[in-house]
Amino acid sequence: MKAVVFEKFGEAPTIQTVPDPKPAADGVVIKVEATGLCRSDWHGWMGHDDGITLPHVPGHELAGVVVAAGKQVSRWKAGDRVTVPFAVGCGRCFECSSGNHQVCEHQTQPGFTGWGSFAEYVGIEHADTNLVRLPDEMEYATAASLGCRFVTSFRAIVDQGRVKPGEWVAVHGCGGVGLSAIMIASSMGANVIAIDLTDEKLEFARKIGAVATINASTTPNVVKAVKQITNGGAHMSMDALGHPTTSFNSIANLRRRGRHVQVGLMLGEHARPQVPMDKIIAFELEILGSHGMQAYRYQAMMDMIRNGKLKPELLVGKKISLDEAPAALMAMGGFEGIGIGVVTKF
Ligand SMILES: [Zn+2]
Ligand SMILES: [Zn+2]
Repeated sequence: MKAVVFEKFGEAPTIQTVPDPKPAADGVVIKVEATGLCRSDWHGWMGHDDGITLPHVPGHELAGVVVAAGKQVSRWKAGDRVTVPFAVGCGRCFECSSGNHQVCEHQTQPGFTGWGSFAEYVGIEHADTNLVRLPDEMEYATAASLGCRFVTSFRAIVDQGRVKPGEWVAVHGCGGVGLSAIMIASSMGANVIAIDLTDEKLEFARKIGAVATINASTTPNVVKAVKQITNGGAHMSMDALGHPTTSFNSIANLRRRGRHVQVGLMLGEHARPQVPMDKIIAFELEILGSHGMQAYRYQAMMDMIRNGKLKPELLVGKKISLDEAPAALMAMGGFEGIGIGVVTKF
């Protein structure tokens, strides 16, 4: 099969012909129809993820058709249209048996712990536990765009952030994660403030539900601005970018008893950022993470999509071919254009 391969961290990936994957006994092989471009792939390529063994095929936001299933797979067969969470649970450990597959102790991640979906085919283990059926009307590009950013934002806003109607929600960073969070929080009835460095992204944020915006490049004190708009601070706030400044601001702009959810990855030199611990204690703030979402929780999100309450297709940005993926991957270190880029031609 054709795949995007990198042999060394930080060196240009190339298109190569590599052996096709075979299904594990409890796994499937999926013909990839769409795969999203994500900043996590860029982190992986840069060598920030120690789970990666070289040579490597990146890609973890995928949708496609099952072409082969192992002997132990009972729920899936060739021809099924599917997607999968980026954190693939083993289905057997304590976390999985308590319903928290997103933090499975033995999790695999396509494109990190093994070869991913920047390829014509990808193998996924523990298929019965992890595959998610696509609604017939959903396009593959939309399904792939759910893969990591949209589902992580869904869990961050709904399950971790516990956003309620009428609450103020601040979203720091309007890339794929941030825009997803704005759409989801707004659909839950929250008043959302979008924060970014570019007016273009903020304008788009308003179109998908933000009621206020702050341009951090022209606003000297973002925390103060959020507190002014919200009359005291946000109830829930999220760092969707993953930077010491946005992370700090997201905690500091909370009102008493507020909840911060960290979704933007903090890796390498940013792994141990400053936190306003004095405020966390005095205000009884909650600091939470959000790491993907369990396959069984997709149903609630899919129902909201089917009923038009969430429109992830609006967040699909540029569609490109696999041949264009190496250059696009290397460019992910900078700030993305609007929406989620997706490979749709293989
Ligand atoms: Zn991702
Ligand atoms: Zn597990």
